[in-house]
Amino acid sequence: MNVPLLDLKAQYQTIREEIRTVIDAICDSQYFILGPHVEAMETKIAAYCQTPYAVGVSSGSDALIIALMAAGIGPGDAVITTPYTFFATAGAVARVGARPIFVDIEPAACNLDPQRLQDVVAAMDDDARAAVKAIIPVHLYGQCADMDPILELARRHDWVVIEDAAQAIGAEYKGRRAGSMGDFGCFSFFPSKNLGAFGDGGVVTTRSAEMDQRLRMLRMHGMEPKYYHQLIGGNFRLDALQAAVVAVKLDHLDRWTQGRQENAATYRRLFREAGLEGTVQLPVELQNRHIYNQFVIRVDRDRDGLRDRLAGQGIGTEVYYPVPLHMQTCFAYLGCRAGDFPESERAAGQTLALPIYPELSEAQLAMVVDRIREWIGQ
Ligand SMILES: *Cc1c(COP(=O)(O)O)cnc(C)c1O
Repeated sequence: MNVPLLDLKAQYQTIREEIRTVIDAICDSQYFILGPHVEAMETKIAAYCQTPYAVGVSSGSDALIIALMAAGIGPGDAVITTPYTFFATAGAVARVGARPIFVDIEPAACNLDPQRLQDVVAAMDDDARAAVKAIIPVHLYGQCADMDPILELARRHDWVVIEDAAQAIGAEYKGRRAGSMGDFGCFSFFPSKNLGAFGDGGVVTTRSAEMDQRLRMLRMHGMEPKYYHQLIGGNFRLDALQAAVVAVKLDHLDRWTQGRQENAATYRRLFREAGLEGTVQLPVELQNRHIYNQFVIRVDRDRDGLRDRLAGQGIGTEVYYPVPLHMQTCFAYLGCRAGDFPESERAAGQTLALPIYPELSEAQLAMVVDRIREWIGQ
């Protein structure tokens, strides 16, 4: 029995006919870029995320870039975010010409630490604080960052808040949906996300009618009306096939999320029964709707050895992420050093994502826990 980290074929079998019907219709129409399928998806996503507006774009990375562009952020500006995230979060900041400022994570959920955030901001001189224009909290692994203190600080300084919700569609913080709390919410439809397309895609949510219009212009080279360019945008368009796949899948998302949550509960029981609770640190649920894009455990001894052993036994795992962003070669110019963000660095050495997708059987989950127990006991 193998346990892959993710098996999208199992999911596809359950929605195959629905998907093929809509793909056929699009092929017959030969209308591929934006259009009614993209609009229909935007309406559905906006409702799901509890925001008035949603704008389909070419990827989650581009969602971040276009949100920063819409907010008018560029050279000379600084944007605060976490170093423990997928590269795109800080990459987008650099791509628009701004400077990322990292603030360490809290170790329980691996999200931006509001206390450290306050300390970093309090220690800034006036010029440094004036350069900050935005903050990007990341809802890592499918659980929201502690948004209230972040939103409060941003309000006080008049900073834009861009939620990187690429891993967190449907996650909630005090009853509020990911992507509905900040000025922008950025989502990814990369196939391995909880709501994945059949290629690249993404969406930006916003509560502002003005920003909705701006995002729509920017994704079409700032064009409005045709061939008149008011802004310098780019080609950030989404295609109809991706939008249609997402729209079909969205009707199943809550059921899949429930399957992930049930698997998380089963893992917790199995780890407890195996007597591993003290040895293996299980994910901590700090916010009320964790959608488990990933189920990430922490092991403080030889994580990579465990990972190799599991791989040899047919169990897929992944490390999100092995190198915090302040230690990436391309960000050397920021002048950060090892030791600057100790919680991120510690997490990078300890985290291990286990298979959590909804189609897993209990026997598969039990095998994962059993193999971990064997490795720890040896
Ligand atoms: C996946 C991801 C992105 C980028 O999304 P793409 O669609 O792959 O461009 C950005 N941020 C985070 C936290 C992600 O997990």
